[in-house]
Amino acid sequence: MKAEIRKTASRFRHTIGKYRVQRGKQCKSCSGCVVTCPHGVHFKAGTRMGTPRDYLCVGPDACRSRDCFCVEKCPNQALNVVINPQIKALGDFRWTADLLMSTWYQAETGELPTVDLEYRTGNSGGGFDKLRFRFPEKPLQAIPADEIDTSIDLNKRGDNSHRITIALPLYQGGMSFGSVSDSTMVSRATAAMLWGTFGCTGEGGYPEFLYPFDRQMITQVATGLFGVKEETIQRVRIVEFKYAQGAKPGLGGHLLGDKVTDRVAKMREAVKGSALFSPFPFHSVYSVEDHKKHVDWIKAMNPKALVSVKVSTPADVDMVAIGSYYAGAHIVHLDGSYGGTGAAPDIAKKNIAMPIEYAIPKVHRFLVEEGVRDKVTLIASGGIRTAHDVLKAIALGADGVVEGTAGLVALECTRCSSCESGRGCPRGIATTDPELAELVTVDWGAQRVYNLYASWRKQIVGVLQQLGMRSIRELVGRTDCLRHLDYN
Ligand code: SF4
Ligand code: SF4
Ligand code: SF4
Repeated sequence: MKAEIRKTASRFRHTIGKYRVQRGKQCKSCSGCVVTCPHGVHFKAGTRMGTPRDYLCVGPDACRSRDCFCVEKCPNQALNVVINPQIKALGDFRWTADLLMSTWYQAETGELPTVDLEYRTGNSGGGFDKLRFRFPEKPLQAIPADEIDTSIDLNKRGDNSHRITIALPLYQGGMSFGSVSDSTMVSRATAAMLWGTFGCTGEGGYPEFLYPFDRQMITQVATGLFGVKEETIQRVRIVEFKYAQGAKPGLGGHLLGDKVTDRVAKMREAVKGSALFSPFPFHSVYSVEDHKKHVDWIKAMNPKALVSVKVSTPADVDMVAIGSYYAGAHIVHLDGSYGGTGAAPDIAKKNIAMPIEYAIPKVHRFLVEEGVRDKVTLIASGGIRTAHDVLKAIALGADGVVEGTAGLVALECTRCSSCESGRGCPRGIATTDPELAELVTVDWGAQRVYNLYASWRKQIVGVLQQLGMRSIRELVGRTDCLRHLDYN
């Protein structure tokens, strides 16, 4: 595969769109609407009109203002355009139907949607959805897009460990072997490699099919230690300790027995069909000193490895962050409460940890006050859905983000919350069923994720241009570039 945008259409015949274009029996197949519609919705199939490709429809308002509204131009009043009733059942307040459809579009084309879909924010009524950028009133001198740097450094300690710079201010969150299909894992890893960033094994072992991605993979060491071996720690340049998961802090991990197939059981050295729990916390770590022993343990096996520490966001998360730094971490990874696949229980997501928008500035400020902010990379995850969320997280104080769910949405996840059912993912993403997994091919999946990142990068560059910044690093902690809708 090449590192370039290629149009990669939906796998499904009836793509869900915002509008539904209805053609009545009065239609005389005159082809007038084929000529009228600038978006290719109408087409002729032989002597008859084909079923409208209504997911391309930009809606009545846009067309009426350009005098190309097919409904008004049809000589036989055969057309009607309405909001697609299907979208009422799609998405939720955070991942709205608009966000899902606009992400699918970006994954298909690498571009922003032509349809009037909201692609920047959801409708949660808080957090990132209430923040907007404050741009200078007078336009600044334009900085050419190719002069804008979106890369970040992952080793700021300046020690003897690997020096790693990633081209985008993001890498991928861990999704374990057994929780998503092999082709989903390889698709994501391929996109990460093409963009010069990183994927992550998640808990559950390092399957052989990921070996070609060693240079761009992170080995996760989580509390269950499933699949963790000396060899899996030595393969990679970054090792991530997962102390907790923002979507369910204090609860640990749980892989339902249904997902523990022969292969998963072998990889995790467990018994087929039995549910697997990753406890909370690491029962060997109750202090910064214990934590340091953990980091030393990794360094003894892989002296040049960068160590990332993934923690959830309790009220004292700033103390956790500084402790992690002094224990030797290169990356402090804050995982806020909105992340997780559909397998994370809602009651935990909505009620336990601190939303990531509050945790980032709290930790950033504390690390500045302690004089170590420029020696540690601060990464945020847990609810990063769009390029604008990436930018807002950085303006609040992170160096970069971890992306998880958005990559699955690029593979046409509908956020139906059935991930935990194991074999039942209707889109072949979070499944261990070999037949369902065939719904995602690696070439298709990798290109869709690649395209999504390409669209995000363009948006990041666009915002930096408007702010007059040459590098994403200039945006870190610039809360003055943000405004809250409730206050100003
Ligand atoms: S313009 Fe009207 S009559 Fe002509 S093909 Fe379209 S829908 Fe049918
Ligand atoms: S409303 Fe506009 S975009 Fe939609 S089908 Fe009609 S002409 Fe095409
Ligand atoms: S489509 Fe699949 S991956 Fe997406 S939420 Fe549903 S079950 Fe989970």
